[in-house]
Amino acid sequence: MASNGWALALHGGQREIPPGEMEASRAGCRAALAAGEAILGRGGGALEAVEAVLRLMEDNPVFNAGTGSARNSDGEVEMDAAVMDGATLDLGGVAGIRGVRHPVSVARLLLRETPVLLVAEGARRFAADRGAELCDPRDLIAERPGGGCDTIGCVARDRAGNLAAATSTGGLEGCMPGRVGDSPMPGCGLYADNAAGAVAFSGFGEEIARAMLAARVIQALEAGATPDAAAGGAIARIAALGSEAGGIVLDRHGRIGWAHNGANFAVGLLAEGGAPRVWLSKDEERKDAGHA
Ligand code: ASP
Repeated sequence: MASNGWALALHGGQREIPPGEMEASRAGCRAALAAGEAILGRGGGALEAVEAVLRLMEDNPVFNAGTGSARNSDGEVEMDAAVMDGATLDLGGVAGIRGVRHPVSVARLLLRETPVLLVAEGARRFAADRGAELCDPRDLIAERPGGGCDTIGCVARDRAGNLAAATSTGGLEGCMPGRVGDSPMPGCGLYADNAAGAVAFSGFGEEIARAMLAARVIQALEAGATPDAAAGGAIARIAALGSEAGGIVLDRHGRIGWAHNGANFAVGLLAEGGAPRVWLSKDEERKDAGHA
């Protein structure tokens, strides 16, 4: 998709979406796209947009982030989130954080601070000190028919040409307490650099980290690849490792690309002057293109 100004791409995670959850996933992506459009369309910043988009998705139990997060083997919710500013390369990340309503906002509060990543109780204490919304950790538990894992992510370019990326996740269902996935790690689950592009992934965090998927995308964009080719190359790499992932990519011009190799990857895509698109898989996009 081409862009002539601001651009926005979001995802609701890579996983097999049960038929009964498809409409809710689509509606959640549509609503989040509208929230981002409202900010970028009035000249708002990319950071503001990615945070607003993910806050809305964190409140939606159909997605594994914030309310509706996966539980670890102790039955507890520990969340990871990050925000990256492509203008300054500042990154704010939290991992294994409990009892906050919006991990993405805690990550954004950390953006201009010295630590890149705060974990567990230290992250929650930081959230409390900065006035982030706290909650009973049990309030974040919501039954999802599909269960399992996934992550939400968003990349945006604003009219000033600034890029941002953000991720938020409850991690993998039944994982070891204290386990941290790719989502808050720069160069793995996300990255943003105004000179190259912005990217956010979902999938099995251990393999995404081992394969440095976000770094691969940024390097491909720097070498002149299109966003679709850069996303496709990263997914080919994860497939070669026998794993599954999905990624959304923006280049510095605001062109959008995406790829995935699992059953579903819910995305919402919108570039200034274009029509909003929501798809649950590449197959859906291809079918739409065939009927256009
Ligand atoms: N990437 C996330 C993690 O490993 C989970 C997912 O996207 O499915 O924590």
